[in-house]
Parts: sequence; structure tokens; C-alpha cells
Amino acid sequence: MSAPLLAVANATKRFGAVVALDDVSLDVGAGEFFALLGPSGCGKTTLMRCIAGFETPDSGRLTLNGDDLAGVPPYRRPVNMMFQSYALFPHLDVFENVAFGLRRKGEAQEAIRARVNELLEMTQLTPYGSRQINALSGGQRQRVALARALAPRPKLLLLDEPLGALDRKLREETQFQLKEIQRRTNTSFVIVTHDQDEALALADRIAVMRAGRVEQIASPVDIYERPATRFVAGFVGETNFIDGRIARDGGGARLVTSFGNLARDHCPLAEDARATLSLRPERIGVSREGEGLSGVVEDFVFRGENTLLRVRLAPDVVLRVLAHEARYAIGDVVRLQIAPDAGVLFGEEA
Ligand code: ATP
Repeated sequence: MSAPLLAVANATKRFGAVVALDDVSLDVGAGEFFALLGPSGCGKTTLMRCIAGFETPDSGRLTLNGDDLAGVPPYRRPVNMMFQSYALFPHLDVFENVAFGLRRKGEAQEAIRARVNELLEMTQLTPYGSRQINALSGGQRQRVALARALAPRPKLLLLDEPLGALDRKLREETQFQLKEIQRRTNTSFVIVTHDQDEALALADRIAVMRAGRVEQIASPVDIYERPATRFVAGFVGETNFIDGRIARDGGGARLVTSFGNLARDHCPLAEDARATLSLRPERIGVSREGEGLSGVVEDFVFRGENTLLRVRLAPDVVLRVLAHEARYAIGDVVRLQIAPDAGVLFGEEA
């Protein structure tokens, strides 16, 4: 990767006894769409506020294009922020909301008009320039907030739960628009979200945070397919956790569980180590007959394109399994196939 636009190195921030950021390091590239993902309270907003300059880390260093940000006030940073509440000015119309940052910078009238019109076109708001904010839908307000934040050409835009206030259908449409606008403006976006689907759909890379620490930074595919920790596996996407112990014989290895042995490829763990296999519902094969572990369909949810089965394998083990036909009924006996390379095995510490 070329030199990063933003570099966060060993940032720590405490509020009294709470460690909101605990030795956080990450880079964001120029033109990259980066997501900070994690449960409530993990420190996402604090990190974003440190990048914007509303908060100062107790230790660590933040640089933008190689320049240290320490002591640089928010308005001097080439960084803008789009707030979850949008924070639009209700007494100004759409055009003036978008023009706000440019007027503050003292740009020429003509340049302001051209830039605002460009942004209104990009966000499909051209017909609404003279509308008052309270006469707009939620989706339109979201686009005004985005246009306003982009108007002064920040190098980095911080977006706090940008789709949080929209309903599900609108969120999906807006995801596409957001990605397209990010590409067209070639601005680095850092979004904060607790919604894993949103992070997977939007980001080039995701940092998964937990209790002030970064657990993993990787592409959406790697986060999903190769989670670094048990927490990441459980937080991003649906998964089954299967507990057991490792048994090794010759070059091979098995996970010994309460419902039988699962052969494993490439097992780095020692004989008798406790381990947990994280196995996505779509990585388990299901059939009525033939080879496999025997289980009973305990429940199912029809989801249109597929059906999620809950299959009991043992008194203490129920697995969620994705089936592509809807022909299963409660009480059906089924066979499950778990390939030796399916899923990710975690040792006790991960
Ligand atoms: P959410 O998704 O709920 O906004 P978050 O991941 O953004 O959560 P932060 O808002 O960064 O998390 O908070 C991290 C921790 O720091 C929390 O325990 C929070 O209570 C605490 N915290 C954040 N800001 C302050 C503050 N100004 N004073 C005291 N504690 C704070």
C-alpha cells in the first residue's frame, strides 16, 4: 500500500477508570472506505472524535499525510464529520445547508454555487435546493448531510452510523449511493457502525473493535472467512461454536466432541488441547440420507431464498444449518456433513 493518509499509532484514551481506547493502531489509505465495527461501548466513537480533533488521546500519535495532528484544532484538519443526527440547520434551505462550510471558508460566490450544484447533482437533490429541511424525508436529509460534509472537499470524511436513522429498505439503496459517492469524490471515508452487514457491504477494510482494542483489521471477505479471534467470528455473521478437544494421530487431527469426531485439516493445536470450531451455517452440508452426522430438525425459519434449520445432534448441541430447499419439517432425521477444512478452529486463548 502507498503511504497511508491517516495513521493512528498506539492511541490510548481513558475516561476515569474506563479505558475507551487501549493501544489502538491503524492506517487508512487515500480513497479508502474504512469501517470501525464493534458493539456499543467498544470505543469507536472515541476513536472517531480523536481523529476529528474533538478529543485528545492520552498517549499515542495521529498523523494525516505524515503531519502530526497533536494540537491541531478540528476546523484546521482536512477532516469533516457527518453526525448520526445529521445536525442540519433547520432555518436554512437545502442549498444553504450544503453551502455552509464553503461560506465559512470565505470562498467566492461563483465557486460556492458551482460546488453546491455539483454536490446536489451527486446526491440527487437538484430539485430540492430551495426546500426547507423540515419539508424533507429522512433519506433526503441524510443526503443533505452528506453533501454538506463533502462540500469543502475534506481529505477524510468521518461518518457516525450514517444509515442508522433509515428503515431497512432505504438503508440498502443508500448503501449503493454512499459507495458510489465515495468512489466519485475519491475521499477517504471512515464509518462507525455496530451493524456488521453494513460494514461488510460498504468497506474496503474493517477494523473490528472490542473493549477499546482492535481485534482484527482486514477485508470484509477475510473478516468473514478467516476471523482472527472467537469474538470476531461471533460478532460478524452467523456462526456455530462447537467445543471439543484435539486428538492427534500420525499427521492427522480430530476435534473430539460430545456428538462424535470431526476430522480437521491443518490443525496447529497440540494433543488434548481444548478448542472451539467456528462453523458458518452455510458451510455445513445437509441431506436426508447418506454419509454424515445424524441429527433431528428441531425448528426452521423459511427465509425465501433459503431455510435456516436448527438441527439437534446431541442433548447439548444444536447447530444452525443453511438448506437451499424448503422441504424439511420438524422432527425430520437428517445427515450433516462437515468438511475437514470447513470453519476456523480456535485454541483456548483466542
Ligand atoms: P456506541 O456504539 O454506543 O456509541 P462506542 O463504541 O462508540 O459505543 P464510545 O462512545 O467510544 O463507544 O465509548 C467507549 C467507552 O468510553 C464507554 O465505556 C463510554 O461510556 C466511555 N466514554 C466515552 N466518552 C466518555 C466521556 N466523555 N466521559 C466518560 N466516559 C466516556
